[in-house]
Amino acid sequence: MFFVQTGIRIQHSAVDAIGRLCFNLNVQTDAYIALGSNLGDRELNLLRAVAEIGRLPAGKVTGLSPFYETSPVGVSDQPFFFNAVLRLSTKQPPHELLHNLQHIESVIFKRKRDQHWGPRTIDLDLLLYGDQVVDSCDLTLPHPRLAERRFVLQPLCDLAPDLLHPLLGQSIRQLLAGLTSDETVRKI
Ligand code: ADP
Ligand code: MG
Repeated sequence: MFFVQTGIRIQHSAVDAIGRLCFNLNVQTDAYIALGSNLGDRELNLLRAVAEIGRLPAGKVTGLSPFYETSPVGVSDQPFFFNAVLRLSTKQPPHELLHNLQHIESVIFKRKRDQHWGPRTIDLDLLLYGDQVVDSCDLTLPHPRLAERRFVLQPLCDLAPDLLHPLLGQSIRQLLAGLTSDETVRKI
């Protein structure tokens, strides 16, 4: 009897250990993605992009900010944008996720990259991937211009005001409060 009980205990603890290992390998990470559009039906473009991101494998959209109409930054002679931020709980590694976002931009939205910061049907930027810091030729995390753009910080603050910027050590709320730029960011 003693051996049987011990045997059962060993089996249970082994199963628990394997379960914990699988769970740890299968980690879900919160990624924050910025969406922007200033060509065509801007609101419909954002909604379609949310739906397409929601269809990506191994992920689930767990938060979506309000939509904002915002003045263009960089190239000012172009239509106002609609911007939003969503939270994706995902198992895809960051490079794979960026690749999938670029696929949505180019294949679903037929986005042309003819002018840097110019008009676009959709722009999908990976703002944060957990607290990971990445500096590779095609991916920088956190997004390098995250902390200086009101049209990103405002919707991100709606979703995650207390989230810390992994490099600057300040919360999204603090970064937004510290902005001095005069961009227009109007909730629609
Ligand atoms: P922007 O978003 O600045 O208007 P693009 O969308 O054309 O410009 O992106 C330019 C390049 O930025 C892409 O080729 C992509 O590889 C690179 N990039 C680096 N880090 C990121 C990131 N965190 N999110 C999205 N793109 C990124
Ligand atoms: Mg982009």
